[in-house]
Amino acid sequence: MAQAAYDVIVIGEGVSGLTAAGALAAAGLKVATIEGTLFGGLVLNVNELEPGPEGREVSGAELASEMMQANAEAGVTSIQEPVTAVRTADGVQEVTTDSGTHTARHVVVASGGRLRRLGVPGETEFEGRGVSQCADCDGPMYQDENVIVVGGGDSALQEALVLADYARKVHLVHRRDTFTGAAHFADQVKANAKIAVVWNATVEAISGSKMVEKARIKHADGSTEELPCAGVFAYIGLEPNVEFLPPEVDRDAEGLVKTDPTLQTSVAGISAIGAVRSGYEGTLNHAIAEARLAAGTIAAKLSSR
Ligand SMILES: Cc1cc2nc3c(=O)[nH]c(=O)nc-3n(C[C@H](O)[C@H](O)[C@H](O)COP(=O)(O)OP(=O)(O)OC[C@H]3O[C@@H](n4cnc5c(N)ncnc54)[C@H](O)[C@@H]3O)c2cc1C
Repeated sequence: MAQAAYDVIVIGEGVSGLTAAGALAAAGLKVATIEGTLFGGLVLNVNELEPGPEGREVSGAELASEMMQANAEAGVTSIQEPVTAVRTADGVQEVTTDSGTHTARHVVVASGGRLRRLGVPGETEFEGRGVSQCADCDGPMYQDENVIVVGGGDSALQEALVLADYARKVHLVHRRDTFTGAAHFADQVKANAKIAVVWNATVEAISGSKMVEKARIKHADGSTEELPCAGVFAYIGLEPNVEFLPPEVDRDAEGLVKTDPTLQTSVAGISAIGAVRSGYEGTLNHAIAEARLAAGTIAAKLSSR
């Protein structure tokens, strides 16, 4: 077996990756995290986490900064490079980035997901000119405007509530007749006089001149209507960040990485945790629990060799 530079490389500095890296370093292992963009992942721009991690009231940015700081103090190396490939060679995991190859005895894939796009005409054209996926960042720009939120899960409900603090009216367009998000979010949405739910409908097109001015809504009976709006925010689920993984790492029909109960993938020496994993239950508390479980298993395995 070739010599590896690290015991463990964790791909992704979201909450799951940062938690795993901290736990692995605390177990005495030499650990690096590799992040392709900004540390923090999906919650970086969420001002009020609900649920907060382990019951805490903290913003996503505060949480991520605290975790980065703690990891640095625990000796975790943080590398800012997007991972482009992972492969096993001579018993060692090789993690390739734009700048070179890093080696480890074990890899934890914690690369999460990215918000799905609607894929409708006007969406790309009006990106940054009314089309957004960050309610906390862009909400203040929609003071007294009409906005549309698309989706019916936790994120759509949570972000519709954020936007209702600024907008005159939020139309929440959902393709089903019930929400899939948590009941407490659904109750708040239904009780909010500024939010009107458009059930059994989809957004077909976004249009305007310089900025977004309206969206075409298609109802289940085939009829359409033009809803005037200044903003369109889509929260219709996540696409897993898995493009860099070798085909031997089994995925489910949605591309999420399959694992066994110890969170090991189909390839020895590669584990997967958090939003990239098939079966992930979706909150930060689940991310933290998975990260600790994987770290415990990996630490026990590596220290017995
Ligand atoms: C709008 C919104 C609001 C939410 N609010 C809450 C909340 O209030 N409470 C709650 O419990 N949950 C909330 N969630 C869910 C929560 O964000 C996720 O469950 C959790 O953040 C998943 O963490 P993760 O570390 O698994 O993945 P991610 O947060 O997606 O982190 C993955 C990291 O990997 C990096 N990465 C990806 N590909 C590569 C690559 N090739 N190379 C290097 N790095 C890479 C990404 O840049 C990212 O930093 C919310 C989700 C959304 C979308």
